[in-house]
Amino acid sequence: MKEYKKIIVNLGKRSYPIFLGNKILEEKVQGILKNDKNKIVIVTDSNVKNLQGKTIDKAFKKYSKNLKIIVLPFGERIKSFKFLENILEKTLSFNIDRDIFLFAIGGGVIGDLAGLASSLLLRGINLIQVPTSLLAQVDSSVGGKTGINSKYGKNLIGTFKQPKSVIISVDFLRTLEKREIISGYAEILKYSLIRDQKFFLWLLKNGNSILNLDKKSCLYAISKSCNIKAEIVSQDENEKGIREILNLGHTFGHAIESSQGYSSKINHGEAIFIGMVMALEFSVYLKLCKKIVLEKLINHLEDLSISYKMLNYKIKIDTKNFIKNLKFDKKIKNKKLKFILLKDIGVPLSYTLEDERVLTNFLNTKLI
Ligand code: NAD
Repeated sequence: MKEYKKIIVNLGKRSYPIFLGNKILEEKVQGILKNDKNKIVIVTDSNVKNLQGKTIDKAFKKYSKNLKIIVLPFGERIKSFKFLENILEKTLSFNIDRDIFLFAIGGGVIGDLAGLASSLLLRGINLIQVPTSLLAQVDSSVGGKTGINSKYGKNLIGTFKQPKSVIISVDFLRTLEKREIISGYAEILKYSLIRDQKFFLWLLKNGNSILNLDKKSCLYAISKSCNIKAEIVSQDENEKGIREILNLGHTFGHAIESSQGYSSKINHGEAIFIGMVMALEFSVYLKLCKKIVLEKLINHLEDLSISYKMLNYKIKIDTKNFIKNLKFDKKIKNKKLKFILLKDIGVPLSYTLEDERVLTNFLNTKLI
């Protein structure tokens, strides 16, 4: 038996395990599928199928009689009604019942899209998340948020659908492009900033080993991130309170992503690095946080050669358009924008914008 770690997301009857280890897919699939009677649908994308097809085929070989694989194109643009419908219709054509298992094997895009499909099919079927990108392993596969994008903004159409389990096998990361590894690191860094100063200090020393996919460092950082996310989600499943701290950098980040039409010019994690720096700059601007905290973050990003400026991606947005994009995000209450800011490392705070001129003045100093 392979060595693995088990982290529980505690949600009463809907509690579920996250299994974390190296090369554990086959063993965990067999643990979940007790017999070969259940129908199984795998949803994945063409990159994952091409690069990890053998590992997937081997893990599901025993179940090939009742198995259907849906391979979609890759990229954020598939988080759309068109591809949602594609999954729904193809799965239904398989003559399914509620005992079917849907395995979402891919990055956050596949997890969000297939997760949404699983919550709609027959009003809810068994979902297993098998995250294959670093970002999905530390973030999107845990916590049950599903979604597709709308022309009005990112993830605006979705559900909460907790999986039955999450299988995180770090060997999948081997084929990931460097850009995507860096992107996942954004969310790891986020957890340290919102929750754990010691973890932040650990990242200052070990960030580079994660980017170089050192197995031990990756396992530690993924486990730390999943533990933090599991703890927060267990307290606030539907984001009525503390869960909102997970959005550090995301309000600004989503505005940047949507300004580029979710194109490959900038990916999710890259936008989150910029968004986190902006959130800290805003915290300092509002005198809620000392400048040294922002400097620590920027120094770390520079040490790792991670870009945190829009100009590095050749993106220019003026203040008016930036605010327009911010308003399409979900973090709006009583028509007021909300931001997760930091008082210090490990000490987040929720900030409601009472006077839009404050934001305008801040953005005028940051945007050209
Ligand atoms: P992604 O799914 O597009 O994956 C990034 C790229 O890596 C894709 O090209 C994909 O094909 C490829 N890939 C994935 N695994 C691979 C592997 N093992 N080897 C080689 N290539 C591989 O994007 P992502 O960065 O994983 O996730 C971003 C998405 O996650 C966004 O849509 C974001 O909104 C969503 N998200 C959701 C939550 C949530 O709580 N539901 C949280 C954070 C982010």
